Amino acid sequence: MPEYDYVIVGAGIIGLATAYHLSRMKPGSRIAVVDKGSGPATGDTSKSAAAFRVFFTSKINIELAGSSVAFYEHLQEEEGVDLSMRFVGYLFMADKPKMEELKKGLRHADRLGLEYRILEPGELEEKLGVRTSVEGTEEAEILGARDIVAGVLIPKAGTLMPDKLASYYYESSRQAGVSYHFNEEVREFILEPRKPLGIEGEPFPWQDTRVAGVLTANGREYRVREKVIVAAGAWTPFLLEPIGVDSFSRPKKRQIFAVKAETPEQKRVLYAKGLNRYDVSPMIILPNMAYMRPTPEEESYWMGYSDELGRPYRLEENPVPEERFYTYTIHPLVSVYFPQFEGAVPRASWAGHYDLSPDKQPVVFEAFNSGLVVSAGTSGSGILKADAIGRVTAAVALRMDEIQLYNGDTFKTAWLGFEERLVEKEYLVI
Ligand SMILES: Cc1cc2nc3c(=O)[nH]c(=O)nc-3n(C[C@H](O)[C@H](O)[C@H](O)COP(=O)(O)OP(=O)(O)OC[C@H]3O[C@@H](n4cnc5c(N)ncnc54)[C@H](O)[C@@H]3O)c2cc1C
Repeated sequence: MPEYDYVIVGAGIIGLATAYHLSRMKPGSRIAVVDKGSGPATGDTSKSAAAFRVFFTSKINIELAGSSVAFYEHLQEEEGVDLSMRFVGYLFMADKPKMEELKKGLRHADRLGLEYRILEPGELEEKLGVRTSVEGTEEAEILGARDIVAGVLIPKAGTLMPDKLASYYYESSRQAGVSYHFNEEVREFILEPRKPLGIEGEPFPWQDTRVAGVLTANGREYRVREKVIVAAGAWTPFLLEPIGVDSFSRPKKRQIFAVKAETPEQKRVLYAKGLNRYDVSPMIILPNMAYMRPTPEEESYWMGYSDELGRPYRLEENPVPEERFYTYTIHPLVSVYFPQFEGAVPRASWAGHYDLSPDKQPVVFEAFNSGLVVSAGTSGSGILKADAIGRVTAAVALRMDEIQLYNGDTFKTAWLGFEERLVEKEYLVI
């Protein structure tokens, strides 16, 4: 007899949010979460910059982010759950071409009544000390940097602590009866025919076959009556390859370098006044897409940049940050606009993976009607969209066509699948 109704592989933010919502949508069902780590959120969730925003250009991202951020705000403001959610805002600094892309997002913002402010170069210089006029310098010439023509400040955005969000889903789902099994690495999927014939070599390709459970490196079997849900982040494609299932997602290394604001000039940038109620700098996205995430509790900026061409799709079990990447990429991209950080060296650094689908939108589907549900491709915004992705994944496991998100919007589950995938370019991927 199967021990469980549902087994979820992966206790990162996606597996945790899925377990939480599944336990609420189908109370009384037996749900197990299996993870090779020693506790919840030891994978890329713990490597995240965990910045959030509701400002995107594609309908999918607007829906998923809008509802998730509203839910997190509800948790913190009304339920008293401390997520260290700080609405410092996002400040997109735009050169001329970037401004054209941002205008697409602004059209949606107008439609949705989302607040934003356009800042002129003079105000940006005065409040943040950013160098807006760079063209003509040798450095800018080499880096292809252009003048900043405006800043777009989105107040409904900021930063949170992903481990606190993970803890909320973990503790609440445990209270609802979900069982967690750590230090359990899934090695295989158990495939069985729905109508066994008792012939050796089953299941044959022509048989109606289901995924009946998983087998771990410790030799334990977790058998299911209903569904196995794979939410293994960057590991997902490699886990599924042996059984011929494509997750349509692949990992790319991403790195963060924590740079302390030490000099008075650097502190003036980090503790910028008048841009939010905390008198701290917003999350800054430069025209070249390098970002600076304010972390005032460490007096630091976490700096990052998503390199594409030349960066392989590859999984490293323990990815290490590359000093050269800071020295020759992030440092020049930042200091061309913020000369205050010229020569600054990082005090800490770490690396993880983005789990990327081709259109950079999440992928949630049931493979071959087999009872195997895949939830992948969430990066680089899997934290800020996790709540809605968890709801959609639970709904796919329950074979629901639609789901109501936290903000009341109706979301078709097929939009994240393949038959009716809502493919729309997202211009504001970071
Ligand atoms: C540097 C960086 C910056 C980021 N910045 C942001 C940001 O600012 N905002 C934002 O919203 N998102 C950001 N992201 C993306 C976000 O962190 C991810 O989208 C999200 O954490 C993915 O969650 P997950 O649950 O899918 O994956 P993970 O957290 O990696 O969880 C997957 C889990 O599966 C487990 N697992 C894997 N294989 C097996 C197996 N065989 N058996 C058992 N368990 C297994 C792993 O141990 C892991 O715990 C960032 C990511 C990185 C790397």
